[in-house]
Amino acid sequence: MNEYDVLERYIHESNYIVALTGAGISTAAGIPDFRGEKGIYTLGIVPERVFDIDYFLRDPRPFYEFTRRMIETLEGSGPTRMHRFLAYLEEIGKLKLLVTQNIDGLHTLAGSKNVIEIHGSYRRSFCLNCGKEYDFSEVKEMILKNTVPYCSCGGLIKPDVVFFGEGVKGFEEARQHACLSDLFLVVGSSLQVQPASLLPYFSPGKLVIINKGPVAFPRSRIDVHIDEDCEKVAEELMRRLKK
Ligand SMILES: [Zn+2]
Repeated sequence: MNEYDVLERYIHESNYIVALTGAGISTAAGIPDFRGEKGIYTLGIVPERVFDIDYFLRDPRPFYEFTRRMIETLEGSGPTRMHRFLAYLEEIGKLKLLVTQNIDGLHTLAGSKNVIEIHGSYRRSFCLNCGKEYDFSEVKEMILKNTVPYCSCGGLIKPDVVFFGEGVKGFEEARQHACLSDLFLVVGSSLQVQPASLLPYFSPGKLVIINKGPVAFPRSRIDVHIDEDCEKVAEELMRRLKK
């Protein structure tokens, strides 16, 4: 039995899958791994500035420049095979919760319903002065015109994205689901960003890692590690499960 056979068996046997996804699932969609070393630096953008709240308040331009590029990239791509595969697992009743560290919104676009975006998202944005809520479509228009979005009151608008040093979203709910899971999938994450990286520890079930490269997790607690590109893995799993 190879690792795919084992994972296929785990999926068949499980009734409560929880998945945690990271940047590696979206790179095939062209989204740079901005918390990683490469991607964003090659764009001349320094992540410490882009996602630093104090820096943002002084000069929001680098953040919105990054966002503009991300929106443009997304318009030319869309969900990957792996995004669609995870949506399929939910559709057939196997996957109960998807936790993502990504802020690109691709899981929802792929059709996943029960998603916790632990680092927030662009879907909701708020005026930092009066608190007025803005829909992404309104903010997007301003960003694409290369202008920093400001509220009608003159206040700066900030998307509900988690910056460095800010608290994550939905961790307790994610933790509770992890505790109930009989199969925990880590997809496209090297488990280096806390507290998301702690979630697999709470699962009493099997732990499967789908990530190209090593992960920061005790080897003895990993049942299977498929050390390959997410898209390749998704293609193989779809072939096996959708037959
Ligand atoms: Zn306002």
